[in-house]
Amino acid sequence: MQKVHRQRLAQVQSKLADRKLPALVIFSRANIRYLTGFTGSAGILVVGRDGWAWLITDGRYKLQSREQTKGTSVKIAIAKQTHKVLANILKRLGVRQVGFEGRHCTVAFLDGLREELKGTKIRLESVANIVEELRAVKDEGELTNIRKAAQLADAAFEHALKVIRVGMTEQELAWEIEAFLRTHGADAIAFPPIVVSGERTALPHGQPSDRQLRKGDLVTMDLGAMVNGYCSDLTRTVVIGKPSAEQQRLYRAVWEAQQRGIEAMVAKQKGKKVDSIVREVLDKHGLKKLFMHGTGHGVGLEVHEAPSLGQRSKDILRPNMVVTVEPGVYVPKFGGVRIEDMVLVSDSSPEILTRAPNPPKILSV
Ligand code: ZN
Ligand code: ZN
Repeated sequence: MQKVHRQRLAQVQSKLADRKLPALVIFSRANIRYLTGFTGSAGILVVGRDGWAWLITDGRYKLQSREQTKGTSVKIAIAKQTHKVLANILKRLGVRQVGFEGRHCTVAFLDGLREELKGTKIRLESVANIVEELRAVKDEGELTNIRKAAQLADAAFEHALKVIRVGMTEQELAWEIEAFLRTHGADAIAFPPIVVSGERTALPHGQPSDRQLRKGDLVTMDLGAMVNGYCSDLTRTVVIGKPSAEQQRLYRAVWEAQQRGIEAMVAKQKGKKVDSIVREVLDKHGLKKLFMHGTGHGVGLEVHEAPSLGQRSKDILRPNMVVTVEPGVYVPKFGGVRIEDMVLVSDSSPEILTRAPNPPKILSV
């Protein structure tokens, strides 16, 4: 793993050189893990254009940080007051312009750091997406973990289909999914499973409640595993018993929108364009206004990461990006349908990584 971390650090350093930025302070845990292998819950990484990198963490992670970054060029500093140590490192290295991840830094930390840097010529500048852009394109090792996480999500969904029954609550079904993931090889769940039923399926991100499942209910399950830090994300909507004509109609429209969206997932495609294609299909069915979220997002160390598929997206798809395609329609007081799969982008046709059954007619359980 160390070789891969050395390469990634070198990539960041060359990006800093391109931007004429002497140093970058990284706060995002996922970014720190990606660049160094360090998985602790507290730490700051500062990377210099000239090849140096310091990881500042606290006493709890003294051993772990050394072990996990062995073989990389990362130096470790153990400190109680991380902003002071960071200021000292920046002063000692004589950098003037320093970028920091404004999106991942607290105002309190920044105030403390500014205080320490008073009287120096060091200028702080908020920057975004330097590491995220690298993370969007996956290497083979990452894809292996993502594939495992996707297979586990599929298996958890199959398990849910086996245990689902009238009278059980949404919370009970969510726990079945979570327990399955945790006992079948996930190091964690990617996020707490969403299980909503009946009218509650009109909530795109509703939390499982104590509502009992009934005959004729739509049931939406949105779930994901984490394997070696890498996430999966899968959604299916099923019906208990025989679907009504309206349930079937909504489902069919979402399914068709998702299929058209997936077909469009090729390298060089604009994220915005995939979103438009999906919206056009729903528009044809008179359902566009009932789709109020983006079409998809990248998945990796975080369950939501770059690139994004939405109307405001400026992202362009590249080979080895892993992105969800997840249209949905949500009818207040009736219910909703969402179908989500993870797609691996390549120069040729896209590969669907999640393999849970996805028939054109709603699955009846
Ligand atoms: Zn999801
Ligand atoms: Zn998703």
